[in-house]
Amino acid sequence: MSYTRKAIQDMKGYSYGEQPKSEAALKLNTNENPYPPSPAVAEALKTFKVDSLRLYPEANCTEFRMLAAKVHGLKPDQVMATNGGDELLRLAVTTFVPQGGALGSTEPTYSLYPVLAAIQEARFIGACLAEGGALAKDFAEQMNEAAVQLAFLVNPHAPSGYLTETAELKRIADKLDGILLIDEAYVDFVSPERHYNSLSLLESCPNVLILRTLSKGYALAGLRFGYALGASSLIAPMMEKTRDSYNLDSIAQTLSCAAFRDQAYTSALCLKIRLERSKMTQALRKRGWHVNASEANFILAKPPGLTASSAQYYFKALRKQNIFVRYFKGSLANALRISIGTDTQNKRFLAAIDQIAANSQI
Ligand SMILES: *Cc1c(COP(=O)(O)O)cnc(C)c1O
Repeated sequence: MSYTRKAIQDMKGYSYGEQPKSEAALKLNTNENPYPPSPAVAEALKTFKVDSLRLYPEANCTEFRMLAAKVHGLKPDQVMATNGGDELLRLAVTTFVPQGGALGSTEPTYSLYPVLAAIQEARFIGACLAEGGALAKDFAEQMNEAAVQLAFLVNPHAPSGYLTETAELKRIADKLDGILLIDEAYVDFVSPERHYNSLSLLESCPNVLILRTLSKGYALAGLRFGYALGASSLIAPMMEKTRDSYNLDSIAQTLSCAAFRDQAYTSALCLKIRLERSKMTQALRKRGWHVNASEANFILAKPPGLTASSAQYYFKALRKQNIFVRYFKGSLANALRISIGTDTQNKRFLAAIDQIAANSQI
């Protein structure tokens, strides 16, 4: 006999990207930022008063919410801070999807979404994407037909890097019967020339929630800090009812504010990554790889040969050289997802694939 709920017994947990211990490992597998966070974060940690840990943290993360409201031109009650973006995803499911309800997204998508649906005993509906990562024209209709209460769209999309335009998101939000949560984990890497501005949707769409995180653009994945933006009618039930009390510890609250005040630093980091992204894209295309145009800090790249075996071959051969990229089974088995590193890291990666290509028969 098991004490575990049947739904939990039957489901599979989220599978994490590998976290190799070795300092010599080159990690291009979990879309972490290759640069350190703002020096203001180190300074805030140095001056953090350890005595204050005796007390519970400020319950509502007020300082950060005021800062974020100011930066984004919103009101503090339109902002909620969460323990990583992942906590927000879980809260949104708990708050808006009843047991037996439906959670929607695309296929492929962030692999945590179906896991959250399974925990909630909700159906997961994945609408197929077009080649390259564009949304199906009838995405909203597919969601409505399946009676989806909450639809998640990663934008820029993971793992394709494809950016859906603001106007299309608005069309979808207007048509959807349920909530549209735009997961903007990678939004800091979008080229300004794209004029992407999902925040403008918040004025006219009462069913839109936006997820942001400090994990990627701000280089703070280890801090576990994310936040939601949206109508206060969507934020309030999560803030006041479903979240854990004290969901953000005092250290995370202090460091997130320090990082967030230094917007100029993050902009400069993301600019560097965009430059490296375009260098990597060109370098791989020159070598005969098919690379999606990406607005994120990773690229989805298919090695020449386009068969599952060549992607897997590169994945394994790179791993032998202590270079980690992400390989997915299933519909993406002919591609690798490669996080953008520093100039030096990317050169090491390119040298490795040149060597692998020279030594192989594929
Ligand atoms: C990284 C990521 C998140 C949030 O990550 P946290 O580290 O929990 O903030 C959410 N969605 C996608 C698609 C991501 O890649």
